[in-house]
Amino acid sequence: MSRPIIATVSQQALQHNLAIVKQAAPAAKVWSVVKSNAYGHGISRCYTALSESDGFALLNYEEAIQLRESGWQKPLLLLEGFFKAADLALLDGYRLTTSVHSEWQITALANARLSAPLDIYVKVNSGMNRLGFRPDQVPEVWNRLAALDNVGEMTLMTHFARAELSDGVDQPVALMAQAAAGLGSVPARCFANSAATLWHPETHHQWIRPGIILYGVSPSGNWQDIAGTGLKPVMGLHSEIIGIQQLTPGEGVGYGYRYHAASEHKIGIVACGYADGYPRHAPSGTPVAVDGVMTRTLGAVSMDMMMIDLAPCPAAHIGSVVELWGQQVPADDVAQSCGTVGYELLCAVAPRVPFRLL
Ligand SMILES: *Cc1c(COP(=O)(O)O)cnc(C)c1O
Repeated sequence: MSRPIIATVSQQALQHNLAIVKQAAPAAKVWSVVKSNAYGHGISRCYTALSESDGFALLNYEEAIQLRESGWQKPLLLLEGFFKAADLALLDGYRLTTSVHSEWQITALANARLSAPLDIYVKVNSGMNRLGFRPDQVPEVWNRLAALDNVGEMTLMTHFARAELSDGVDQPVALMAQAAAGLGSVPARCFANSAATLWHPETHHQWIRPGIILYGVSPSGNWQDIAGTGLKPVMGLHSEIIGIQQLTPGEGVGYGYRYHAASEHKIGIVACGYADGYPRHAPSGTPVAVDGVMTRTLGAVSMDMMMIDLAPCPAAHIGSVVELWGQQVPADDVAQSCGTVGYELLCAVAPRVPFRLL
C-alpha cells in the first residue's frame, strides 16, 4: 500500500563480494569502506553481511558511533581524520583509528589528554593533491608522531588517483617507496582502494581499503572491467509502470518535449524521478528493464516520473516491474549513459525511497 518504488539490498551479494575481495588479496586485512552510509545502502543493512571484515573505514563520527553501538569491537578508521582538536576526546572514547594528514593534527595529538594511545594512519599525498603530507616530509613527520605518548600503532597510508589504469599506480608507488626508505624499517602500509585491490596486487601490503566493489559496482565506471570477477550487484532499484500512452508520429514526450516519436509506439510511465535519486540529466536511451526485457528511457526525467519505450516489450502492462538498476541493468551502465559513475547513483538514492533487505 505505497508508491511502488523500492530499493533492495542483498546481504548475500555483499557477503559474496567480501569473499571475492579476500580471494583477491589473501594476505591483506580488509577495511570495508562504509562511508556515506555504506555508499547509500545503509550501514545498519550492511553491518551483519560485512562482519567478516577486519575493520570498517568511514568518515562521519555519527556512523562510527552507530557501528560501536551495534556492537562492533574491531577497528574503525576515520579516513578524513579528526576535524577539530576537541574531537580527540570522542576518538578516545570510541577507540577510533584516525588518519593524520596535516601539521595541526600532530600538535593536537601532542596536547590531548587521552585514556590510552590512539592508532594512527599517516596519510601521504602521493600525487592526488587531496589530503596528506608530501613524501619528502614523511621521515620527519613519522618520527615526531612516533615519539608521542598519545600515538599507538602507526600505518603508512596513501590514496591512488588513477588506480583503474594499468600504469596508474607506478608513480605513487615509487614515491611511497622513497618515503618509506627514510624510515628505520618498513612500516605497515595501507594503500589499495577497490581498483588497486583488483588490478594492482603489489599494493596490497598489510591492509586494503575497498569500497565500491563490495557493492558490486565498478571502480573504473565500466561494468565490463569487473564482469569477469564474479562481483554481484548489491543494490536494486525497482518501480512499476503506472500509466501507458500510445504515441503517434511527431508527438512530444515530457517536459520540453525532449523526445519526439518517429513512429507509432507505446511508452510506459514509471513511478521514479529525480526526487527518488534517479539522475535528471539521464538522456533518452538510458537503459532500463521491464519485466526482464531491456529497453530505454525517453524524454526528460521529471521529479516523480519518467517515461520509457515499450516498443521492445509489447507484453508490458500497468504494474509491470521496471528495473532502474540492479541484477539486469548494471548501475555502471546507467551512470555511463548519464556521464557519471555508479558511486554517485548509489549514494544519491533519496530518503523517500523505502529499502528492503534481501
Ligand atoms: C572512498 C575511499 C576509499 C574506497 O574507494 P573505492 O574506490 O570505493 O574502493 C578508500 N580510501 C579512501 C581514502 C577513500 O576516501
